[in-house]
Amino acid sequence: MFKKILYPTDFSDVAQKALDFIKELKNAGAEEVVILHVIDKRFFDAIAWYTTKDLPEMKRDLLKEVTSEIEPIEKELKDLGFKVKVRIETGDPFTEILRVEREENVSSMAIGSHGVSNIEEMFLGSVSEKVIRKAKKPVHVIKR
Ligand code: ATP
Ligand code: MN
Repeated sequence: MFKKILYPTDFSDVAQKALDFIKELKNAGAEEVVILHVIDKRFFDAIAWYTTKDLPEMKRDLLKEVTSEIEPIEKELKDLGFKVKVRIETGDPFTEILRVEREENVSSMAIGSHGVSNIEEMFLGSVSEKVIRKAKKPVHVIKR
């Protein structure tokens, strides 16, 4: 159940907590982690309106930023002896998370209950709620 774990991250504190949980799973037989960040297409389209950069330049900068966030996570997991795969996708976060879940045929996934918005009144963030509803495999929900 823990062999290959999907780790979707928006680089929030709660997602960081989910990473700490995954590290613990090493002792439970976890071997491989797929780190996934989805560049939200809506956010992307929104900044495209007011930026002076052209589209390819904007994409390049964003990708660089995301890569620099992922690199230390990747290193940390590798140092612990995990096999690591990195996936950066663009689109709707929940759709992409579910697509990668199926594509990578993971054993389970670990996701934060909340993310960057972390609204006090919300029981779950919108991404985690939709992912939990539709995922095929067990989902570890790490609470804030
Ligand atoms: P909302 O986005 O609905 O305003 P939120 O930001 O507090 O609320 P979610 O976005 O649902 O909560 O985040 C919950 C978890 O989903 C995160 O901890 C992370 O594991 C995952 N997640 C959210 N957004 C992304 C993303 N763009 N790429 C990868 N994983 C994500
Ligand atoms: Mn969010």
